[in-house]
Amino acid sequence: MAQPKKATSRSKTKIRRKSFRLSSVNLIACEQCGSLKPAHHICLVCGTYRGKKYLDVEKKERKERKRVQEAEAQRERQRESIQKVPGKTPSSQTRQLVSKPLTQRTTSK
Ligand SMILES: [Zn+2]
Repeated sequence: MAQPKKATSRSKTKIRRKSFRLSSVNLIACEQCGSLKPAHHICLVCGTYRGKKYLDVEKKERKERKRVQEAEAQRERQRESIQKVPGKTPSSQTRQLVSKPLTQRTTSK
């Protein structure tokens, strides 16, 4: 296999790697709401760019709220289905623990 004639100096390595760095995002304040946003981009907080509305932010919020509600409803349905499974009732020991008031549970040990 081909071998390099000389080891690359630290200086040459750093000069080569200089181009690998990430440039910082230029954030500016939105004229509409004042929140920080990347320059030449639509503000994601109010959905405007240069005073004109491009994004329906409220619609996005409504969609997100609906998604969260549906996820919670599904979780609730799953919980109910687990409780309804026959033959999987909690053991007598746990049932006794649950039926006792909290004060008795701690003193019985
Ligand atoms: Zn804005």
